[in-house]
Amino acid sequence: MILDHTGNITYKPAGVEAEPPLCHRCGNRDRRYFYTYYADFHESMVIYCMKCVNLGRSDSVTPLRCRDTERVAEESPYGLSFTLSSQQTRASERILETVKTGGSLLVHAVTGAGKTEMTFESIEWARMNGLNVAFTSPRIDVVKEVHMRLCAAFKGSDIDLMHDGVKQVYNHHFTVCTIHQLYNFIGHFDLIIVDETDAFPLPQDPLLMQVVRRAASPRASFIFMTATPSRQLIREVGRDNVITLPRRYHGHDLAVPKLVWHNVSRDLGHGRLSQKLMMLIDAILAEERRVLIFLPEIHMMETLFDLISAHFPASASVHSGDPERSGKVERMRKGEIEVMLTTTILERGVTFDRLDAIIIHAERFNSESLIQMCGRVGRKTTDPVGRIWFIAHHQSASIRKTLRTIHDFNRRKVEV
Ligand SMILES: [Zn+2]
Repeated sequence: MILDHTGNITYKPAGVEAEPPLCHRCGNRDRRYFYTYYADFHESMVIYCMKCVNLGRSDSVTPLRCRDTERVAEESPYGLSFTLSSQQTRASERILETVKTGGSLLVHAVTGAGKTEMTFESIEWARMNGLNVAFTSPRIDVVKEVHMRLCAAFKGSDIDLMHDGVKQVYNHHFTVCTIHQLYNFIGHFDLIIVDETDAFPLPQDPLLMQVVRRAASPRASFIFMTATPSRQLIREVGRDNVITLPRRYHGHDLAVPKLVWHNVSRDLGHGRLSQKLMMLIDAILAEERRVLIFLPEIHMMETLFDLISAHFPASASVHSGDPERSGKVERMRKGEIEVMLTTTILERGVTFDRLDAIIIHAERFNSESLIQMCGRVGRKTTDPVGRIWFIAHHQSASIRKTLRTIHDFNRRKVEV
């Protein structure tokens, strides 16, 4: 069923039960996330759930309404402007097999392997057989990009889009949404694809994994996709249900980061832009390329941005709370921005042409983030390698692990 305040069925007489506290929409039982106040209108105390309040309020006085799940089989042909690589074809077949038989599959794919396209065959089959499909990710940027690509491929299909503040709703037979939006579905989806499974906040919030399971029908299949799977996820799906895709779709190696030892934050403390960094950016722009500069803190990013924007006018900075975030990403895509400073928010889900990357204080990031950041470059067939610099104050375990992982992937051949 679909929880929807315009629905014709009462799912629960109230969204929140008082004692012990329980939210029927998101399953929250943690007292810290309930807010209680006296409501004059109801002449009583009202408790509401703060955990899912951004989906609309679930409280102790309002019934939770819903409508029944419908299943409609539909011809949903897709178009692709290129043919899948042998590695993608193998993965696509394995995903389809899982969707036909039920169960879970973890696709451990190097960044830029073309994961989204590997699911098309299964989505077409699922929709033809009347299965409800959800393509979901913890990250809004990933959701937006995937929705764009799915709409371009499945031209005849109505694809719902749901993330914070945005709702483009048809009938929820084929939905692209953030994981949080799955709180609105119970037993509804028969195929759930979770992209960038490991991205914040999924591993930190076990409720979110529960919500994926709750949104699924009893016979549903689950496809988890990531470049950096956690041990916990591998355990959950079982080793036999993991496939590894070591090559990018264009077949080129991943770029290996160059290490530069330098303490950028000391320069910033003195109000200086490091000469090394400036020369590096100059050289990148001279080749008519663009650069993403990753920083570990917003404050450091803002200080550096003041210095950089004085030298490089076509620059911008972006972080998760930035209301102009999508506009800036779009301007970068169009080539109007050449130097983009960012937090980890752009470590996934974005693809730019002719791009290099600089990671400042690389020693402060974990290896999962470093691998994702490196994964931003060399994604296009026209520019398949790209360059990466780690500017680090000192060596770290995460830097070593990242280099090891990249070398491992580059050594591996496609298992056909
Ligand atoms: Zn709730």
